[in-house]
Amino acid sequence: MGYPKLVVNKENLIKNVKEIIRICNAEEIEVCGVTKCYGGILDVEKVYIEGGIKTIGHARVDNFKEMKNLDVKKLLLRIPSISEVEDVIEYTDISLNSEIKTIRELSKTAISKGVVHDIILMVDLGDLREGILKNDLDEYVKNILLLKGVNLKGIGVNLTCFGGVIPTDENLGELVELSERVEKDFSIKLDIISGGNSSSIYKVLDGTINKKINSLRIGEGIIFGTEASYKQRIPNTSAEVLSLELEVIELKEKGSMPKGEIGLSAFGETVNYKDIGKIKRCIVKCGRQDIDLEDLKPMDENIKIIGGSSDHTILDVSNYKKNLEIGGIIKFRITYKGLLALGTSKYVFKEVK
Ligand SMILES: *Cc1c(COP(=O)(O)O)cnc(C)c1O
Repeated sequence: MGYPKLVVNKENLIKNVKEIIRICNAEEIEVCGVTKCYGGILDVEKVYIEGGIKTIGHARVDNFKEMKNLDVKKLLLRIPSISEVEDVIEYTDISLNSEIKTIRELSKTAISKGVVHDIILMVDLGDLREGILKNDLDEYVKNILLLKGVNLKGIGVNLTCFGGVIPTDENLGELVELSERVEKDFSIKLDIISGGNSSSIYKVLDGTINKKINSLRIGEGIIFGTEASYKQRIPNTSAEVLSLELEVIELKEKGSMPKGEIGLSAFGETVNYKDIGKIKRCIVKCGRQDIDLEDLKPMDENIKIIGGSSDHTILDVSNYKKNLEIGGIIKFRITYKGLLALGTSKYVFKEVK
């Protein structure tokens, strides 16, 4: 295997999977393990399953194709498009939905294949990404119940994704009220009340999550042990699940100030340099085609990122205490957004160890 290499630490990942499941199960909430950000690494899916995950969530149906033989429920997170309905029925068990036209197509295809596809109807409670409006709920439920080939498995909400709306007693309570009303009015049972993503974990931790919420879809909380709006670490989770290993391709002492007439960089940016004399500069094999610089952080605090271009990242290693050589490796932490980019790059090697 070569570099750049995204390394997933199996032991720490399993620890996080188990801890999030433990926290949620204590409130009778099932965890859908969201692995979409890895871009589909089969060994990673296996770690989640080994850790006890019964449902895996991906946003892109392609990621499920390799998982066909894995014994786990497959949940499609991004509402399906009409053009991918065949694959959705073939490779997933359940999908989040908000458009009746698409649900009708799912129904037709499921009937033709002799299967029943589960759907979770998404309701928009203010975050303004996917979801039907509350006032349309009855109409939707009525129409879905008329269809064969699809089973209304539950209702759900997504928060803190687009609008940054935080899960509260009000919006989650509203979801629960809507579900109860639907169950009563239509004399049906909704198996799943899906109360959002990692941003709902803080309500589980402080014991205020609505008791009727019985499912959460957790990505970041498992991978990083954090959640953007919950500033603290989720107790007993590891921050050391991911690392990015980059290979040194140039190591030289050079000036800190570009020499010559200064125009714009390759990205059309004006760059401001401070002349601090000669420094030890190191180029590692990775660039903005792989990851944004702001999503990279050297593990060793004595290494500083100076900048980068599409294929090169330039480091100041003047204060680095350890030995460095051409062909050597420097390790970095990455952000959630960084993982998204690396996960989908064909230039990045991925290893679970
Ligand atoms: C990505 C996604 C999630 C997981 O979000 P995290 O914040 O990483 O937990 C949950 N639900 C949907 C619909 C998603 O698209």
